[in-house]
Amino acid sequence: MAKNFDVAVIGAGPGGYVAAIRAAQLGLSVVCIDAWKNAQGKPSLGGTCLNVGCIPSKALLESSENFERAHHKFADHGINVTGISLDMPKLLARKQKIVDTFTTGIALLFKKNKVASMHGHGRFVGAGPDGYQIEIAGDGAPETIAAKHVVIATGSLPRPMPGVTVDNKVVCDNIGALSFAEVPKRLGVIGAGVIGVEMGSVWRRLGAEVTILEALPSFLAAADEQVAKEAFRQFTGPLGLKIYTGAKVASVTPAENSVTVEYADREGTRHVAEFDRLVVAIGRVPNTAGLNVDSVGLKLDARGYVEVDGTCRTNLPNVFAIGDAVRGPMLAHKSSEEGVAVAETIAGQSGHINLDTIPWVIYTAPEIAWVGRTEQELKAAGIAYRSGQFPFIASGRARAIGETAGFVKMLACAETDRILGVHIIGPFASELISEAVVAMEFGATSEDIARIVHAHPSLSEALHEAALGVDKRSLNL
Ligand code: FAD
Ligand code: NAD
Repeated sequence: MAKNFDVAVIGAGPGGYVAAIRAAQLGLSVVCIDAWKNAQGKPSLGGTCLNVGCIPSKALLESSENFERAHHKFADHGINVTGISLDMPKLLARKQKIVDTFTTGIALLFKKNKVASMHGHGRFVGAGPDGYQIEIAGDGAPETIAAKHVVIATGSLPRPMPGVTVDNKVVCDNIGALSFAEVPKRLGVIGAGVIGVEMGSVWRRLGAEVTILEALPSFLAAADEQVAKEAFRQFTGPLGLKIYTGAKVASVTPAENSVTVEYADREGTRHVAEFDRLVVAIGRVPNTAGLNVDSVGLKLDARGYVEVDGTCRTNLPNVFAIGDAVRGPMLAHKSSEEGVAVAETIAGQSGHINLDTIPWVIYTAPEIAWVGRTEQELKAAGIAYRSGQFPFIASGRARAIGETAGFVKMLACAETDRILGVHIIGPFASELISEAVVAMEFGATSEDIARIVHAHPSLSEALHEAALGVDKRSLNL
Protein backbone atom coordinates (compact mmCIF):
# COMPACT_ATOMS: atom_id res chain seq x y z
CA MET A 1 0.00 0.00 0.00
CA ALA A 2 1.26 3.44 -0.92
CA LYS A 3 2.41 5.75 1.88
CA ASN A 4 0.27 8.89 2.00
CA PHE A 5 1.52 12.41 2.64
CA ASP A 6 0.02 15.89 2.62
CA VAL A 7 2.98 17.14 0.60
CA ALA A 8 5.60 15.46 -1.61
CA VAL A 9 8.54 17.62 -2.59
CA ILE A 10 10.58 16.36 -5.54
CA GLY A 11 14.16 17.65 -5.21
CA ALA A 12 16.16 18.57 -2.11
CA GLY A 13 18.07 21.59 -3.42
CA PRO A 14 17.68 24.99 -1.72
CA GLY A 15 14.16 25.20 -3.14
CA GLY A 16 12.95 21.73 -2.21
CA TYR A 17 14.55 21.20 1.18
CA VAL A 18 13.38 24.60 2.40
CA ALA A 19 9.84 24.01 1.08
CA ALA A 20 9.78 20.63 2.89
CA ILE A 21 10.94 22.10 6.21
CA ARG A 22 8.52 25.03 6.05
CA ALA A 23 5.57 22.73 5.17
CA ALA A 24 6.48 20.44 8.09
CA GLN A 25 6.75 23.45 10.44
CA LEU A 26 3.18 24.29 9.46
CA GLY A 27 1.96 20.87 10.59
CA LEU A 28 1.78 19.04 7.27
CA SER A 29 3.11 15.52 6.72
CA VAL A 30 5.92 15.84 4.19
CA VAL A 31 8.22 13.63 2.14
CA CYS A 32 11.19 15.02 0.25
CA ILE A 33 12.44 12.88 -2.62
CA ASP A 34 15.94 13.44 -4.00
CA ALA A 35 18.14 11.57 -6.44
CA TRP A 36 21.54 13.27 -5.90
CA LYS A 37 24.57 11.06 -5.28
CA ASN A 38 28.00 12.46 -4.48
CA ALA A 39 31.31 11.40 -6.05
CA GLN A 40 31.44 8.44 -3.65
CA GLY A 41 28.01 7.27 -4.86
CA LYS A 42 26.31 8.24 -1.59
CA PRO A 43 22.99 10.15 -1.41
CA SER A 44 23.74 13.79 -0.67
CA LEU A 45 21.03 16.36 0.03
CA GLY A 46 21.23 20.04 -0.97
CA GLY A 47 21.05 19.80 -4.77
CA THR A 48 23.29 21.77 -7.09
CA CYS A 49 23.76 24.61 -4.62
CA LEU A 50 25.36 22.62 -1.83
CA ASN A 51 27.01 19.82 -3.80
CA VAL A 52 28.42 21.48 -6.93
CA GLY A 53 27.31 25.11 -6.95
CA CYS A 54 27.13 28.03 -4.56
CA ILE A 55 28.89 26.54 -1.56
CA PRO A 56 31.92 24.74 -3.07
CA SER A 57 32.51 27.60 -5.52
CA LYS A 58 32.52 30.16 -2.72
CA ALA A 59 34.94 28.00 -0.70
CA LEU A 60 37.35 27.89 -3.65
CA LEU A 61 36.90 31.62 -4.33
CA GLU A 62 37.92 32.38 -0.74
CA SER A 63 40.94 30.05 -0.79
CA SER A 64 42.17 31.40 -4.11
CA GLU A 65 41.62 35.00 -2.98
CA ASN A 66 43.72 34.32 0.12
CA PHE A 67 46.47 32.87 -2.08
CA GLU A 68 46.33 36.01 -4.22
CA ARG A 69 46.42 38.26 -1.15
CA ALA A 70 49.43 36.44 0.28
CA HIS A 71 51.24 36.80 -3.04
CA HIS A 72 50.34 40.33 -4.03
CA LYS A 73 48.60 42.25 -1.26
CA PHE A 74 50.15 41.48 2.14
CA ALA A 75 53.34 43.31 1.17
CA ASP A 76 51.38 46.59 0.95
CA HIS A 77 50.56 46.16 4.65
CA GLY A 78 54.23 45.67 5.48
CA ILE A 79 53.71 41.93 5.90
CA ASN A 80 56.39 40.03 4.05
CA VAL A 81 55.62 36.43 3.33
CA THR A 82 58.11 34.10 1.73
CA GLY A 83 57.90 30.51 0.58
CA ILE A 84 54.19 30.60 -0.28
CA SER A 85 53.07 27.29 -1.71
CA LEU A 86 49.85 25.63 -2.62
CA ASP A 87 48.61 22.40 -1.02
CA MET A 88 45.91 21.43 -3.52
CA PRO A 89 44.70 18.28 -1.72
CA LYS A 90 44.21 20.36 1.44
CA LEU A 91 42.48 23.17 -0.42
CA LEU A 92 40.07 20.69 -2.05
CA ALA A 93 39.55 18.80 1.22
CA ARG A 94 38.58 22.05 2.97
CA LYS A 95 36.01 22.72 0.26
CA GLN A 96 34.64 19.17 0.54
CA LYS A 97 34.42 19.36 4.32
CA ILE A 98 32.30 22.50 4.07
CA VAL A 99 30.04 20.78 1.51
CA ASP A 100 29.72 17.61 3.62
CA THR A 101 28.91 19.61 6.76
CA PHE A 102 25.99 21.28 5.04
CA THR A 103 24.67 18.29 3.10
CA THR A 104 24.63 16.08 6.20
CA GLY A 105 23.19 19.05 8.10
CA ILE A 106 20.08 18.93 5.90
CA ALA A 107 19.49 15.30 6.89
CA LEU A 108 19.55 16.47 10.54
CA LEU A 109 17.17 19.34 9.77
CA PHE A 110 14.79 16.87 8.12
CA LYS A 111 14.90 14.69 11.23
CA LYS A 112 14.35 17.64 13.55
CA ASN A 113 11.36 18.84 11.50
CA LYS A 114 9.97 15.33 10.90
CA VAL A 115 10.35 15.49 7.13
CA ALA A 116 10.49 11.98 5.62
CA SER A 117 13.46 11.72 3.28
CA MET A 118 13.49 9.27 0.37
CA HIS A 119 16.41 8.73 -1.94
CA GLY A 120 15.78 8.04 -5.60
CA HIS A 121 14.40 9.44 -8.81
CA GLY A 122 10.79 10.57 -8.45
CA ARG A 123 8.29 10.59 -11.31
CA PHE A 124 4.54 10.98 -11.62
CA VAL A 125 2.71 7.73 -12.35
CA GLY A 126 -0.89 8.87 -11.97
CA ALA A 127 -3.49 10.52 -9.76
CA GLY A 128 -6.17 8.98 -7.60
CA PRO A 129 -8.38 9.62 -4.57
CA ASP A 130 -5.32 9.95 -2.27
CA GLY A 131 -3.74 12.53 -4.54
CA TYR A 132 -0.84 12.25 -6.95
CA GLN A 133 1.08 8.99 -7.16
CA ILE A 134 4.82 9.30 -7.38
CA GLU A 135 7.15 6.40 -8.03
CA ILE A 136 10.59 6.59 -6.46
CA ALA A 137 13.33 4.56 -8.11
CA GLY A 138 16.29 4.36 -5.75
CA ASP A 139 18.88 1.71 -5.08
CA GLY A 140 16.29 -0.96 -4.12
CA ALA A 141 12.91 -1.86 -5.63
CA PRO A 142 10.84 1.16 -6.75
CA GLU A 143 8.31 2.46 -4.21
CA THR A 144 5.15 4.47 -4.85
CA ILE A 145 3.80 7.14 -2.52
CA ALA A 146 0.69 9.33 -2.74
CA ALA A 147 0.49 13.01 -1.87
CA LYS A 148 -2.33 15.58 -1.84
CA HIS A 149 0.09 18.32 -2.86
CA VAL A 150 3.28 18.13 -4.92
CA VAL A 151 6.11 20.66 -5.08
CA ILE A 152 8.41 20.20 -8.07
CA ALA A 153 11.88 21.47 -7.20
CA THR A 154 14.01 19.48 -9.61
CA GLY A 155 16.42 22.31 -10.41
CA SER A 156 18.60 22.60 -13.48
CA LEU A 157 21.46 20.99 -15.41
CA PRO A 158 24.31 22.53 -17.41
CA ARG A 159 23.19 23.53 -20.91
CA PRO A 160 24.81 21.03 -23.28
CA MET A 161 26.90 22.47 -26.12
CA PRO A 162 26.13 20.77 -29.44
CA GLY A 163 29.00 18.53 -30.52
CA VAL A 164 30.84 18.78 -27.18
CA THR A 165 31.03 15.85 -24.78
CA VAL A 166 31.70 16.68 -21.14
CA ASP A 167 33.86 14.02 -19.46
CA ASN A 168 34.66 16.11 -16.36
CA LYS A 169 38.32 15.25 -16.78
CA VAL A 170 39.50 17.36 -19.73
CA VAL A 171 36.22 18.94 -20.88
CA CYS A 172 34.28 19.94 -17.79
CA ASP A 173 31.07 21.51 -16.59
CA ASN A 174 30.76 23.07 -13.13
CA ILE A 175 31.29 19.66 -11.47
CA GLY A 176 34.74 19.12 -12.97
CA ALA A 177 35.66 22.81 -12.70
CA LEU A 178 35.28 22.60 -8.90
CA SER A 179 37.60 19.62 -8.53
CA PHE A 180 40.75 19.86 -10.67
CA ALA A 181 43.34 17.85 -8.73
CA GLU A 182 46.07 20.18 -10.02
CA VAL A 183 46.02 23.73 -11.30
CA PRO A 184 45.84 23.50 -15.10
CA LYS A 185 48.56 25.49 -16.82
CA ARG A 186 46.20 26.67 -19.57
CA LEU A 187 42.48 26.76 -18.82
CA GLY A 188 39.90 27.54 -21.49
CA VAL A 189 36.36 28.57 -20.57
CA ILE A 190 33.43 28.77 -22.99
CA GLY A 191 30.91 31.34 -21.72
CA ALA A 192 31.76 34.54 -19.85
CA GLY A 193 28.71 34.28 -17.59
CA VAL A 194 28.60 33.96 -13.83
CA ILE A 195 30.26 30.52 -13.69
CA GLY A 196 32.83 31.53 -16.29
CA VAL A 197 34.05 34.58 -14.38
CA GLU A 198 33.83 32.97 -10.91
CA MET A 199 35.61 29.74 -11.85
CA GLY A 200 37.97 31.63 -14.17
CA SER A 201 38.92 33.84 -11.17
CA VAL A 202 39.57 30.82 -8.94
CA TRP A 203 41.96 29.07 -11.32
CA ARG A 204 43.62 32.28 -12.51
CA ARG A 205 44.45 33.22 -8.92
CA LEU A 206 45.78 29.74 -8.27
CA GLY A 207 48.15 30.13 -11.22
CA ALA A 208 46.40 29.08 -14.44
CA GLU A 209 46.47 31.12 -17.62
CA VAL A 210 42.74 31.56 -18.23
CA THR A 211 41.10 32.34 -21.59
CA ILE A 212 37.33 32.92 -21.71
CA LEU A 213 35.46 32.79 -25.01
CA GLU A 214 32.10 34.58 -25.00
CA ALA A 215 29.71 34.37 -27.96
CA LEU A 216 27.92 37.68 -27.33
CA PRO A 217 29.55 40.93 -28.40
CA SER A 218 28.91 42.36 -24.91
CA PHE A 219 30.21 41.26 -21.49
CA LEU A 220 27.88 40.43 -18.54
CA ALA A 221 24.85 41.54 -20.53
CA ALA A 222 22.45 41.23 -17.56
CA ALA A 223 24.44 43.68 -15.39
CA ASP A 224 24.31 47.47 -15.51
CA GLU A 225 26.48 48.51 -18.48
CA GLN A 226 28.72 50.74 -16.39
CA VAL A 227 29.29 47.93 -13.88
CA ALA A 228 29.99 45.44 -16.67
CA LYS A 229 32.51 47.87 -18.20
CA GLU A 230 34.33 48.32 -14.87
CA ALA A 231 34.24 44.55 -14.27
CA PHE A 232 35.80 43.90 -17.69
CA ARG A 233 38.53 46.43 -16.89
CA GLN A 234 39.27 44.80 -13.52
CA PHE A 235 39.09 41.21 -14.75
CA THR A 236 41.27 41.72 -17.81
CA GLY A 237 43.60 44.15 -15.99
CA PRO A 238 44.67 43.38 -12.41
CA LEU A 239 43.15 39.87 -12.34
CA GLY A 240 44.65 38.86 -15.69
CA LEU A 241 41.79 36.96 -17.31
CA LYS A 242 41.83 36.92 -21.11
CA ILE A 243 38.23 37.52 -22.17
CA TYR A 244 37.27 37.47 -25.84
CA THR A 245 33.72 38.60 -26.60
CA GLY A 246 32.07 37.94 -29.96
CA ALA A 247 33.94 34.60 -30.17
CA LYS A 248 32.20 31.85 -32.14
CA VAL A 249 33.42 28.40 -31.14
CA ALA A 250 33.52 26.14 -34.21
CA SER A 251 34.90 22.93 -32.72
CA VAL A 252 36.19 21.34 -29.53
CA THR A 253 38.56 18.41 -29.96
CA PRO A 254 39.70 16.69 -26.78
CA ALA A 255 42.85 14.59 -26.51
CA GLU A 256 44.20 12.50 -23.60
CA ASN A 257 45.39 15.48 -21.56
CA SER A 258 44.53 18.56 -23.59
CA VAL A 259 41.82 20.02 -25.75
CA THR A 260 41.90 22.03 -28.96
CA VAL A 261 39.32 24.75 -29.49
CA GLU A 262 38.77 26.34 -32.87
CA TYR A 263 36.97 29.66 -32.85
CA ALA A 264 36.41 32.78 -34.94
CA ASP A 265 36.90 36.20 -33.36
CA ARG A 266 34.53 39.16 -33.87
CA GLU A 267 36.23 40.01 -37.17
CA GLY A 268 35.76 36.46 -38.38
CA THR A 269 39.45 35.54 -38.13
CA ARG A 270 39.95 31.86 -37.28
CA HIS A 271 41.99 30.89 -34.20
CA VAL A 272 43.11 27.53 -32.85
CA ALA A 273 43.81 27.44 -29.10
CA GLU A 274 45.09 24.55 -27.04
CA PHE A 275 44.20 24.18 -23.36
CA ASP A 276 44.99 21.62 -20.66
CA ARG A 277 41.42 21.79 -19.36
CA LEU A 278 38.23 23.32 -20.75
CA VAL A 279 35.16 24.46 -18.80
CA VAL A 280 31.89 24.76 -20.69
CA ALA A 281 29.55 27.16 -18.86
CA ILE A 282 27.00 28.42 -21.36
CA GLY A 283 23.97 28.54 -19.08
CA ARG A 284 21.67 25.98 -17.46
CA VAL A 285 18.45 24.27 -18.50
CA PRO A 286 15.53 23.09 -16.32
CA ASN A 287 15.78 19.48 -15.14
CA THR A 288 12.26 18.29 -15.87
CA ALA A 289 12.72 15.57 -18.49
CA GLY A 290 12.39 12.64 -16.09
CA LEU A 291 9.16 13.68 -14.35
CA ASN A 292 6.84 11.72 -16.66
CA VAL A 293 4.63 14.78 -16.93
CA ASP A 294 2.33 13.23 -19.54
CA SER A 295 1.04 10.69 -16.99
CA VAL A 296 -0.75 13.52 -15.17
CA GLY A 297 -0.96 16.22 -17.88
CA LEU A 298 1.52 18.65 -16.30
CA LYS A 299 2.38 21.48 -18.71
CA LEU A 300 5.97 22.36 -19.59
CA ASP A 301 6.86 25.28 -21.85
CA ALA A 302 8.84 24.92 -25.09
CA ARG A 303 12.16 25.20 -23.20
CA GLY A 304 11.25 22.54 -20.63
CA TYR A 305 10.40 24.86 -17.70
CA VAL A 306 7.32 23.89 -15.69
CA GLU A 307 4.68 26.50 -16.51
CA VAL A 308 3.64 28.41 -13.38
CA ASP A 309 1.74 31.56 -12.47
CA GLY A 310 2.98 34.30 -10.14
CA THR A 311 2.35 32.09 -7.11
CA CYS A 312 4.16 29.02 -8.51
CA ARG A 313 0.93 27.12 -9.27
CA THR A 314 1.11 24.79 -12.28
CA ASN A 315 -1.82 23.91 -14.56
CA LEU A 316 -2.68 20.99 -12.20
CA PRO A 317 -4.60 21.52 -8.95
CA ASN A 318 -2.34 21.28 -5.88
CA VAL A 319 0.85 20.91 -7.92
CA PHE A 320 3.41 23.70 -7.54
CA ALA A 321 6.86 24.22 -9.07
CA ILE A 322 9.73 26.39 -7.85
CA GLY A 323 13.37 27.36 -8.31
CA ASP A 324 15.50 26.66 -11.37
CA ALA A 325 12.74 24.43 -12.80
CA VAL A 326 10.55 27.51 -13.42
CA ARG A 327 10.89 31.02 -14.95
CA GLY A 328 12.93 33.71 -13.24
CA PRO A 329 16.58 33.92 -12.23
CA MET A 330 18.39 30.67 -11.43
CA LEU A 331 19.50 31.64 -7.93
CA ALA A 332 19.46 29.65 -4.70
CA HIS A 333 17.77 32.35 -2.60
CA LYS A 334 15.03 32.75 -5.23
CA SER A 335 14.41 28.98 -5.06
CA SER A 336 14.28 28.99 -1.26
CA GLU A 337 11.90 31.96 -1.06
CA GLU A 338 9.58 30.33 -3.58
CA GLY A 339 9.77 27.16 -1.46
CA VAL A 340 8.64 29.04 1.64
CA ALA A 341 5.88 30.84 -0.25
CA VAL A 342 4.51 27.62 -1.73
CA ALA A 343 4.60 25.75 1.61
CA GLU A 344 2.66 28.63 3.21
CA THR A 345 0.13 28.66 0.35
CA ILE A 346 -0.42 24.89 0.75
CA ALA A 347 -0.98 25.41 4.50
CA GLY A 348 -3.68 27.98 3.74
CA GLN A 349 -1.57 31.08 4.36
CA SER A 350 -0.77 33.73 1.76
CA GLY A 351 2.69 32.92 0.43
CA HIS A 352 4.54 35.84 -1.09
CA ILE A 353 7.51 36.29 -3.40
CA ASN A 354 8.65 39.46 -5.13
CA LEU A 355 10.72 38.65 -8.20
CA ASP A 356 11.46 42.38 -8.68
CA THR A 357 13.70 42.58 -5.61
CA ILE A 358 15.82 39.45 -5.98
CA PRO A 359 19.46 40.41 -5.47
CA TRP A 360 22.13 39.17 -7.89
CA VAL A 361 25.68 38.64 -6.69
CA ILE A 362 28.79 37.63 -8.62
CA TYR A 363 31.53 36.60 -6.20
CA THR A 364 34.52 37.85 -8.13
CA ALA A 365 37.07 40.35 -6.82
CA PRO A 366 35.78 43.01 -6.88
CA GLU A 367 32.37 41.55 -6.13
CA ILE A 368 29.36 42.58 -8.21
CA ALA A 369 25.84 42.89 -6.80
CA TRP A 370 22.65 44.49 -7.92
CA VAL A 371 18.93 44.68 -7.32
CA GLY A 372 16.20 46.22 -9.45
CA ARG A 373 16.55 47.81 -12.84
CA THR A 374 19.71 48.69 -14.73
CA GLU A 375 20.27 52.08 -16.34
CA GLN A 376 19.88 50.57 -19.83
CA GLU A 377 16.56 48.94 -18.82
CA LEU A 378 15.22 52.26 -17.52
CA LYS A 379 16.26 54.01 -20.73
CA ALA A 380 14.64 51.30 -22.87
CA ALA A 381 11.42 51.55 -20.83
CA GLY A 382 11.44 55.36 -21.14
CA ILE A 383 11.41 55.84 -17.35
CA ALA A 384 12.88 59.15 -16.20
CA TYR A 385 15.43 58.63 -13.42
CA ARG A 386 18.13 60.37 -11.44
CA SER A 387 21.41 58.70 -10.64
CA GLY A 388 23.87 59.01 -7.76
CA GLN A 389 27.27 57.37 -7.65
CA PHE A 390 30.12 57.03 -5.19
CA PRO A 391 33.52 55.43 -5.86
CA PHE A 392 35.12 53.19 -3.23
CA ILE A 393 38.41 55.04 -3.68
CA ALA A 394 36.79 57.87 -1.69
CA SER A 395 35.71 55.52 1.14
CA GLY A 396 37.90 55.50 4.26
CA ARG A 397 37.03 51.89 5.06
CA ALA A 398 37.74 50.72 1.50
CA ARG A 399 41.15 52.40 1.70
CA ALA A 400 41.83 50.78 5.09
CA ILE A 401 41.13 47.31 3.75
CA GLY A 402 42.99 48.10 0.54
CA GLU A 403 40.10 47.38 -1.84
CA THR A 404 39.32 50.62 -3.61
CA ALA A 405 38.14 49.47 -7.05
CA GLY A 406 34.54 50.02 -8.05
CA PHE A 407 31.56 52.12 -7.03
CA VAL A 408 27.97 52.17 -5.81
CA LYS A 409 25.31 53.53 -8.15
CA MET A 410 21.76 54.31 -7.12
CA LEU A 411 18.96 54.91 -9.62
CA ALA A 412 15.80 56.65 -8.42
CA CYS A 413 12.58 57.68 -10.15
CA ALA A 414 12.86 61.30 -11.33
CA GLU A 415 9.29 61.98 -10.31
CA THR A 416 8.80 60.10 -7.01
CA ASP A 417 12.45 59.53 -5.93
CA ARG A 418 11.59 55.85 -5.28
CA ILE A 419 14.69 53.66 -5.63
CA LEU A 420 14.50 51.70 -8.89
CA GLY A 421 17.87 49.97 -8.83
CA VAL A 422 21.17 49.77 -6.97
CA HIS A 423 24.36 48.51 -8.63
CA ILE A 424 27.56 47.80 -6.76
CA ILE A 425 30.97 46.69 -7.89
CA GLY A 426 33.44 46.63 -5.05
CA PRO A 427 34.41 45.03 -1.73
CA PHE A 428 31.66 43.07 0.07
CA ALA A 429 29.08 44.07 -2.53
CA SER A 430 27.33 40.79 -1.62
CA GLU A 431 26.66 42.11 1.88
CA LEU A 432 26.07 45.77 0.98
CA ILE A 433 23.28 44.93 -1.45
CA SER A 434 21.00 43.79 1.39
CA GLU A 435 20.40 47.37 2.50
CA ALA A 436 19.23 48.21 -1.01
CA VAL A 437 16.94 45.15 -1.12
CA VAL A 438 15.33 46.11 2.20
CA ALA A 439 14.95 49.71 1.03
CA MET A 440 13.28 48.66 -2.20
CA GLU A 441 10.97 46.17 -0.45
CA PHE A 442 9.81 49.01 1.80
CA GLY A 443 9.36 51.32 -1.21
CA ALA A 444 12.09 53.67 0.05
CA THR A 445 13.23 56.80 -1.74
CA SER A 446 16.86 57.82 -2.19
CA GLU A 447 16.15 60.57 0.34
CA ASP A 448 15.21 57.89 2.93
CA ILE A 449 18.67 56.32 2.57
CA ALA A 450 20.28 59.77 2.57
CA ARG A 451 18.63 60.53 5.92
CA ILE A 452 19.66 57.24 7.61
CA VAL A 453 22.77 57.21 9.83
CA HIS A 454 25.46 54.87 8.46
CA ALA A 455 28.36 53.78 10.66
CA HIS A 456 31.76 55.37 10.08
CA PRO A 457 34.06 54.14 8.75
CA SER A 458 32.10 51.49 6.89
CA LEU A 459 31.61 50.42 3.31
CA SER A 460 27.90 51.13 3.73
CA GLU A 461 28.74 54.83 3.72
CA ALA A 462 29.26 54.44 -0.04
CA LEU A 463 25.56 53.56 -0.38
CA HIS A 464 24.68 56.58 1.76
CA GLU A 465 26.83 58.82 -0.41
CA ALA A 466 25.35 57.37 -3.62
CA ALA A 467 21.90 58.25 -2.23
CA LEU A 468 23.08 61.79 -1.47
CA GLY A 469 24.47 61.87 -4.99
CA VAL A 470 21.01 61.32 -6.48
CA ASP A 471 20.17 64.82 -5.20
CA LYS A 472 23.62 66.11 -6.21
CA ARG A 473 24.64 66.68 -2.60
CA SER A 474 27.42 64.17 -1.94
CA LEU A 475 29.50 65.25 1.05
CA ASN A 476 32.74 63.41 0.43
CA LEU A 477 33.12 63.66 -3.31
P1 FAD B 1 18.83 22.29 -7.44
O1 FAD B 1 19.75 22.88 -6.46
O2 FAD B 1 19.36 22.00 -8.80
O3 FAD B 1 18.29 20.95 -6.78
C1 FAD B 1 17.45 20.07 -7.46
C2 FAD B 1 17.56 18.70 -6.83
O4 FAD B 1 16.53 17.88 -7.36
C3 FAD B 1 18.87 17.97 -7.12
O5 FAD B 1 19.36 17.36 -5.96
C4 FAD B 1 18.48 16.91 -8.14
O6 FAD B 1 19.28 15.74 -8.09
C5 FAD B 1 17.06 16.61 -7.69
N1 FAD B 1 16.20 16.03 -8.73
C6 FAD B 1 16.02 16.44 -9.99
N2 FAD B 1 15.07 15.69 -10.60
C7 FAD B 1 14.67 14.78 -9.68
C8 FAD B 1 13.72 13.74 -9.70
N3 FAD B 1 12.96 13.51 -10.78
N4 FAD B 1 13.57 12.98 -8.59
C9 FAD B 1 14.32 13.22 -7.47
N5 FAD B 1 15.23 14.20 -7.40
C10 FAD B 1 15.39 14.97 -8.49
N6 FAD B 1 23.07 30.63 -6.87
C11 FAD B 1 23.16 31.61 -5.95
O7 FAD B 1 22.13 32.16 -5.54
N7 FAD B 1 24.38 32.01 -5.45
C12 FAD B 1 25.54 31.44 -5.87
O8 FAD B 1 26.61 31.81 -5.40
C13 FAD B 1 25.47 30.41 -6.83
N8 FAD B 1 26.60 29.82 -7.26
C14 FAD B 1 26.51 28.79 -8.17
C15 FAD B 1 27.68 28.21 -8.61
C16 FAD B 1 27.63 27.18 -9.55
C17 FAD B 1 28.90 26.55 -10.01
C18 FAD B 1 26.37 26.74 -10.03
C19 FAD B 1 26.28 25.59 -11.01
C20 FAD B 1 25.19 27.31 -9.60
C21 FAD B 1 25.26 28.37 -8.67
N9 FAD B 1 24.10 29.01 -8.22
C22 FAD B 1 24.19 30.02 -7.32
C23 FAD B 1 22.76 28.62 -8.70
C24 FAD B 1 22.09 27.70 -7.66
O9 FAD B 1 22.92 26.58 -7.43
C25 FAD B 1 20.73 27.25 -8.16
O10 FAD B 1 19.95 28.39 -8.50
C26 FAD B 1 20.01 26.47 -7.08
O11 FAD B 1 20.74 25.33 -6.71
C27 FAD B 1 18.62 26.04 -7.57
O12 FAD B 1 17.98 25.39 -6.53
P2 FAD B 1 16.82 24.34 -6.82
O13 FAD B 1 16.40 23.83 -5.49
O14 FAD B 1 15.81 24.94 -7.70
O15 FAD B 1 17.53 23.16 -7.66
P1 NAD C 1 25.15 32.38 -17.64
O1 NAD C 1 23.83 32.46 -18.27
O2 NAD C 1 25.46 33.24 -16.48
O3 NAD C 1 26.28 32.66 -18.72
C1 NAD C 1 26.43 31.90 -19.87
C2 NAD C 1 27.27 32.69 -20.86
O4 NAD C 1 27.62 31.84 -21.93
C3 NAD C 1 26.50 33.87 -21.46
O5 NAD C 1 27.29 35.02 -21.39
C4 NAD C 1 26.24 33.43 -22.89
O6 NAD C 1 26.19 34.50 -23.80
C5 NAD C 1 27.45 32.54 -23.14
N1 NAD C 1 27.28 31.57 -24.20
C6 NAD C 1 26.16 30.86 -24.51
N2 NAD C 1 26.42 30.04 -25.55
C7 NAD C 1 27.72 30.22 -25.88
C8 NAD C 1 28.58 29.64 -26.84
N3 NAD C 1 28.15 28.70 -27.69
N4 NAD C 1 29.86 30.06 -26.90
C9 NAD C 1 30.31 31.01 -26.06
N5 NAD C 1 29.54 31.60 -25.12
C10 NAD C 1 28.27 31.19 -25.03
O7 NAD C 1 25.35 30.83 -17.31
P2 NAD C 1 26.44 30.07 -16.42
O8 NAD C 1 27.65 30.90 -16.21
O9 NAD C 1 26.56 28.73 -17.06
O10 NAD C 1 25.70 29.92 -15.06
C11 NAD C 1 24.41 29.31 -15.02
C12 NAD C 1 23.55 29.96 -13.99
O11 NAD C 1 23.94 29.52 -12.70
C13 NAD C 1 23.65 31.47 -13.92
O12 NAD C 1 22.85 32.11 -14.87
C14 NAD C 1 23.17 31.74 -12.55
O13 NAD C 1 21.78 31.75 -12.55
C15 NAD C 1 23.68 30.54 -11.77
N6 NAD C 1 24.93 30.91 -11.05
C16 NAD C 1 24.84 31.90 -10.12
C17 NAD C 1 25.98 32.28 -9.43
C18 NAD C 1 25.86 33.38 -8.43
O14 NAD C 1 24.75 33.72 -8.06
N7 NAD C 1 26.97 33.95 -7.96
C19 NAD C 1 27.19 31.66 -9.68
C20 NAD C 1 27.24 30.67 -10.65
C21 NAD C 1 26.09 30.30 -11.33
